[in-house]
Amino acid sequence: MSTTPIQIDAAFDSGNIEVLSIAGATARLAIRKDAHSDFYQWFHFRVARAQGRELTLKITGLAGSAYPDGWPGYRAAVSEDRDFWGRADSSYDAGEDGGTLTIRYRPDGNLAWFAYFAPYSMERHHDLVAAMAEADGVDYRVLGYSLEGQAIDCLELGEGPKQVWLYARQHPGESMAEWWMEGALECLTDPADPIARRLRQLCRFHIVPNANPDGSCRGHLRTNAAGMNLNREWAEPSADKSPEVLAIRNAMDASGVDFAMDVHGDEAIPHVFLAGFEGIPSWTEVQQGGFDRYKAILKRRTPDFQTRHGYPVAGKGRANLAMSTNQVAERFGCTAMTLEMPFKDNDDLPCPAQGWSPERSKLLGRDCLGALLEWLEGAA
Ligand SMILES: [Zn+2]
Repeated sequence: MSTTPIQIDAAFDSGNIEVLSIAGATARLAIRKDAHSDFYQWFHFRVARAQGRELTLKITGLAGSAYPDGWPGYRAAVSEDRDFWGRADSSYDAGEDGGTLTIRYRPDGNLAWFAYFAPYSMERHHDLVAAMAEADGVDYRVLGYSLEGQAIDCLELGEGPKQVWLYARQHPGESMAEWWMEGALECLTDPADPIARRLRQLCRFHIVPNANPDGSCRGHLRTNAAGMNLNREWAEPSADKSPEVLAIRNAMDASGVDFAMDVHGDEAIPHVFLAGFEGIPSWTEVQQGGFDRYKAILKRRTPDFQTRHGYPVAGKGRANLAMSTNQVAERFGCTAMTLEMPFKDNDDLPCPAQGWSPERSKLLGRDCLGALLEWLEGAA
């Protein structure tokens, strides 16, 4: 049996790990904080010299992570070909070394990649944007630039009067949100898809697949390069701290918004759910009715969506207007919502091999569009 120490590195797009010590095939690790902030939860690293060895990877100090409740019942994502992402046996012990997730896995090959969720790299992002920008009827524009000079890409399509905004990855570690975008964009640009054809007659889509490219590259969980949580910047976005949000909100002001979905992942809750805008000052039953009707349609269309589990609803007038969904619902009087997918699994329909996955995130993107069409047609 080999006693050669394994090797671990994370100096790549969205990489994040600190190696504390390695002995044989066992490593003691920690997650680096987002720059200029105390958030940490996202990890993504590579293990070499791993072939046929039982790896024991201990990520320590997790009691202080952004969402300690995210670790019980969670299994780490693992890939050997960087295409198929499965899950590795994982267990969490809150009492060990400041809270430790122990990952055990025996790779077939020499290399194995581990991540908090199947990553969506900036290279894949650019491939997606390039492919979609050249599809028939798609307009591309740069809404603005991130603090580190990356474009806030926006794809626009459709000839209808309804202004629909879809945007994802304000929280960069929530990579399932961009997998969802890939599914939604593939649907909308497929000339053979009847739902897409009808939606394009009814709507003008404005789609931002990645609202936080700096955080994505840097391997952040929750913030941009300045340590700002972009989904707390919507009341007063600024050019020097949150230009990403300022660019999107200015473009929304120019187009107006009839329907908006902000796509996220949730660390703790093992279900797909939607959060609304219940506590906004101008809340009405009619506006709420639009949101409730969308939830009911989506629930009927896919068993991956449910309404029993989710966030507590804000009381009357108590909404935080710095959050995107509340700000957009208040500002435009529209139907706005936050979609949350799990990092863990959908416990109503679990998948032992993959947990919640890129594949299911993409399918949910399609189902959300099908629900949007039914929602629009029903309102007519
Ligand atoms: Zn989020």
